[in-house]
This record gives sequence, C-alpha cells and structure tokens, in this order.
Amino acid sequence: MIPIKTPEELKRMRVACRLSAEILAEVAAQIRPGLTTGELDAFAAARMRARGVKSAFLGYGGFPGYTCISLNEEVVHGIPGPRAINAGDIVSVDLGVVAEGFVGDNATTVRVGEVDAEAVRLCEVTEASLAAGIAAARAGSRIGDVGHAVQAVAEAAGFSVVRDYCGHGVGRKLHEEPQIPNFGKPGQGPLLKPGMTLAIEPMVNQGTYQVEVLPNRWTVRTLDRRRSAHFEHTVLVAESGPAEILTCAEKK
Ligand code: MG
Repeated sequence: MIPIKTPEELKRMRVACRLSAEILAEVAAQIRPGLTTGELDAFAAARMRARGVKSAFLGYGGFPGYTCISLNEEVVHGIPGPRAINAGDIVSVDLGVVAEGFVGDNATTVRVGEVDAEAVRLCEVTEASLAAGIAAARAGSRIGDVGHAVQAVAEAAGFSVVRDYCGHGVGRKLHEEPQIPNFGKPGQGPLLKPGMTLAIEPMVNQGTYQVEVLPNRWTVRTLDRRRSAHFEHTVLVAESGPAEILTCAEKK
C-alpha cells in the first residue's frame, strides 16, 4: 500500500520538508576546499540541533553520519569522515530530517571552485533529469513514467542512470512504498494518486551505471571510478499537473 497523506499529515510533512531544504542549503553553502566531510557533517548536525530536528539517517540501518556525503566517484551513502574536499570536486550531500513525526529528504551536488566542463554538464543533466521526473509524477501516471523521464534525459546526454539504488515513497518513515527506479517503461508500475509523497532522486554516472559498495558497507562508488552526481527532492503528487516540490525553503 502506498500511503496517501491526509491534509493534516501534509501540513506536518511540509514543515519537515521545508526544514530539510533550509538545512541542506546551509550545509551546501559551507562547502569549500580544505574542509573534511566529517567537519561538514558536524556542521549539519549543529544546524539540525539548532532547528530542533533530528537526522533521518543517523542510526538508520546503523548508518553513522547525520548526512551522506559522496565525492566525485562516490555515488551515494558516503560516510562523512577525514576525506578532505578539494577544488575541482563535486560533492553530493544527501540530507533528511525528522520533524513533526515526518521525514523530508533531499540531496544536491555542489561544484567546488573550478570544475571541469564534463562534471559541470553531469551536474546540470542530473538536475534536469530530476526536473523531468518531477514533471512526470502526475496523478494518473505510473512510476514507470517517472523513471522513464529521468532516464531519457540522462541517457540523451550520454550518461547512465544507476540501477542498484532508487527513489522511494517518504512520510512517517524514510522509506515507504513505492520504490522509484531512475529508469523504466512508460505506463508501467504503480499508479500515482494525489496525496502520495515521493523522494525522486536520480543518481547519474559519467560512465558505466555499475557500482560497488566499499568495505565500510555503506559508501557506493562507480565501478569505473568516473564521477557521479545526485539530486533529490521530496514531492507531493498533486490533483493535477506536475508534482509539487516540498523540499524548498520558505518563500521570502
Ligand atoms: Mg532518498
């Protein structure tokens, strides 16, 4: 069963998503050469404490960080630690918080200083593939339509989509039904209905889509060690039109 959120639940979900987006923006703004991923994670933890929210990732399946920070050839689930961020890196930060009993989940990939043109293009295409997935997440469409939209944008640019990890429903729990692969066939998979809340999160690789998990049992990296980018929003399937992005900062 894919949960449909009630208006009351959505009110709380919106708070969690807004806070998640605001803290992610604060963390992304801190990224600079010389900082370690562990220091960046500690900053995220401090911001979560200051906002009175909890990390949705810390302790999840034993995950040891407040955030997942994945550099360059790392795809997702990077464990924050002593690795230093350098100019020219692309740094993916995945950040989820629990507030009001609900989870908001989002990720972005930050370019540090001068980044080579291919990595810039990788980030731009990945973000565009997320936008395409969100546009395809409409009431009456199916999960396969979302994956297909993401995949079409990524592959048209000559990149590949990761097969082993996918997006997911999100709400009271970090991972709810359905799974949302970043590939698929139009018209296939579960039907989308208004009130569903989904974390759509393309992971796009420069080279092969194949990945491996490091001996730390968490960090996923590309098999060919070429770069990977990751963008994610939590969205709400609307009565009509594209899904509404919930993980956005308060409009000023
Ligand atoms: Mg997620």
